[in-house]
Amino acid sequence: MSADPRRQVPRTDTLLADGQIVPAVERLGRDLVREAVRTVQARIRAGGLAPADAVAEVLAALPDTAASLRPVLNATGVLVHTNLGRAPLSLSAVAALTAAAGTTDVELDLRTGRRGPRGEAALAALRAAVPAAGAALVVNNCAAALALAATALGQGRELVIARGELVEIGDGFRIPELLESTGARLREVGTTNRVTAEDYTRALGPDTGAVLKVHPSNFVVRGFTRAVPVAELAAALAGSGVPLVADVGSGLPAPEPALPDEPDLQTTLADGADLVLASGDKLLGGPQAGLVLGRADLIQRLRRHPLYRALRVDKTTLAALEATLRGPLPPVRRMLAADLAGLRARAAALAARLAAAGVDAAAVDSEARVGGGGAPEHPLPSAAVSLPADLAGPLRAGAPPVVGYVEGGRTLLDLRSVPPEDDEALATAVLAAAGR
Ligand SMILES: *Cc1c(COP(=O)(O)O)cnc(C)c1O
Repeated sequence: MSADPRRQVPRTDTLLADGQIVPAVERLGRDLVREAVRTVQARIRAGGLAPADAVAEVLAALPDTAASLRPVLNATGVLVHTNLGRAPLSLSAVAALTAAAGTTDVELDLRTGRRGPRGEAALAALRAAVPAAGAALVVNNCAAALALAATALGQGRELVIARGELVEIGDGFRIPELLESTGARLREVGTTNRVTAEDYTRALGPDTGAVLKVHPSNFVVRGFTRAVPVAELAAALAGSGVPLVADVGSGLPAPEPALPDEPDLQTTLADGADLVLASGDKLLGGPQAGLVLGRADLIQRLRRHPLYRALRVDKTTLAALEATLRGPLPPVRRMLAADLAGLRARAAALAARLAAAGVDAAAVDSEARVGGGGAPEHPLPSAAVSLPADLAGPLRAGAPPVVGYVEGGRTLLDLRSVPPEDDEALATAVLAAAGR
């Protein structure tokens, strides 16, 4: 018998052919499993692991899927968190997305066997959710919707926009730069803090392609300010033949009582906008998408533009969007509607359970936010579990990772952004992070 551990390291071929490891090779592919095998072999060689444990350790080291994105528990209290993938999809949207992931009839009419219109059911669901829309179009995200509208209506022409709406959305994404990149010229009107309907109408001329209103999603201007509401602007533009395009950002189909100041698609169109643009993965609660709704002739112009082909969405997005609109209320909208008493009860139950296991935990009141650039000044009353600050790192490193925030020397896990069915997983993750 040799004491040299290198002689006892199980061979790669032997491990890859092991009855327990073969299904993992089928699920994840040979390369990923071989990586795990090499890591385990290195640990045995270093004397840190018994050769007999090799198979179990390889299985433990394997990722759940062949992609590296992992499910994360969002306890930040930010309902639509761009760094955490924005809106979590409803189970119904996930099922629809999975069903459409294989071969599917996205552009085939199964009755006639001929080519059919792409994604027609998703567009019909959008029109049903927003009855004021004559037609609808879906592209990759709201930035793509804006680029398409600016190109189709404003290329080589002028887009009239208020100075106070030349905003930066985040991560260096500046609306005016995107608009100018399409070859449209910006005709800025008003001042940073004030604009009137006359400022807009004075700027109209033979070169005007469209008037654009952009919701300043992530900031507010206070004090001596004046903006022109869509209804007033539409009335001022009546008869000019110039289309009014409103980018509302967050994508609420209809007014949401919890967010009285947030614009919605139906009201914006009913107020007289010719086109309304929004994201699919903010307050609509669906997949990443850019929604364009409004006048059928304008939608047709966008659809016919060559750029549309470069921006159109895939079958899984169409499936998830349709299911979001037709299925049960998506998670983001449930989180918005959650009542404070229920959130406090969940926080109290979690804190009591953690405290009983010896964790320094307490239930506290907190403030959640919409996020994703929505309702910047509108905190949502919420409840959180307060933990020692030094748990934030271990919680992020856990399985599943938990992301909260540190405030006042404590780690807070806000429950408004956590679906109630995940409370059990949250408790288990905290106990593991605290070493209990
Ligand atoms: C978020 C937002 C955008 C960008 O939307 P994406 O879907 O991320 O491209 C554009 N305009 C407004 C007003 C927004 O709030």
